[in-house]
Amino acid sequence: MSHLAAPEPEHCPGPETENAGKASACDGCPNQSICATGPTGPDPAVAAIAARLTGVKHKILVLSGKGGVGKSTFSSNLSLFLSQDLDTQVGLLDIDICGPSVPKMVGLEGEQIRQSSSGWAPVYVSDNLAVMSIGFLMANQNDAVIWKGPKKNGMIKQFLKDVDWGDLDFLVVDTPPGTSDEHLSIVQYLKDAGITGAVLITTPQEVALQDVRREIDFCRKVGVPMIGLVENMSAFVCPKCNGESVIFPPTTGGAEGLAREQKIPFLGAIPLDPRIGISGDAGESFVDLYQDSPAYAAYVKVISAITKYCKETVPVPSV
Ligand code: ADP
Repeated sequence: MSHLAAPEPEHCPGPETENAGKASACDGCPNQSICATGPTGPDPAVAAIAARLTGVKHKILVLSGKGGVGKSTFSSNLSLFLSQDLDTQVGLLDIDICGPSVPKMVGLEGEQIRQSSSGWAPVYVSDNLAVMSIGFLMANQNDAVIWKGPKKNGMIKQFLKDVDWGDLDFLVVDTPPGTSDEHLSIVQYLKDAGITGAVLITTPQEVALQDVRREIDFCRKVGVPMIGLVENMSAFVCPKCNGESVIFPPTTGGAEGLAREQKIPFLGAIPLDPRIGISGDAGESFVDLYQDSPAYAAYVKVISAITKYCKETVPVPSV
């Protein structure tokens, strides 16, 4: 906007968005009062995104309070698992700007986005699994850290608006860790398109659980339904004998205790299995390769709960 007193700061929600002047990034910004009192309204992108995603039945957000708890691994395995049914069309959208790791995990590292007449064409893992990642735009993984707020939000908007998914049964959205203004943007951009729900990923330690409480709070505040909580890396499963040992003892009841306390569904616990990490690093599908493992059985339990929720739920507009 030409009448701004200073350049838009990092994490700027956008001077004409509903959140203008109100986001945490606005505190202390010389533009704050201009933005807070200026003409704002629903971003026209919200309607454009809803139009773009009309053929997408279920949008599932995958959230985590912290980085490193296995959110991208879960998003990838959820998508790979859902696509095992060849009649199910699946999309995986990676907007984890902080570290887009999905391309590597699904074996698409080094792929680039192609422009078609109807938008950005996703890259396909298989006939019924389409992937789009911010990582496809980066010549260098380190580019992520120098992106500023407005550019990040603009990118997220473009990814939601311009990707030509066609008809999908599920769109799994891998989001950045934590709760930032970017999360607010994602939820606002998807307001008219409707979010089926969020799956929250955590590890059992109390320090991780504390961050999940903030995530739960965020979902409640912005009206995103919570499909439930998944405890990842909960116990170590020996790939040789399938014996279990607890690596991170849940000192406060773990994710199941937190889910009970917060009255949200507990979807299950996925063990720490080195083959999950190795498969992700190699771009191979754990859920296709290790179907006789306890971790696969855990995925079946968790994902069945997610698909059951989706079947029973009509997506609702949020915020
Ligand atoms: P996030 O997306 O939350 O930052 P990642 O999905 O990148 O986390 O996972 C972090 C690391 O943990 C990766 O190296 C991944 O392979 C590994 N990992 C995730 N889940 C498991 C698991 N259940 N068992 C073993 N390793 C895992």
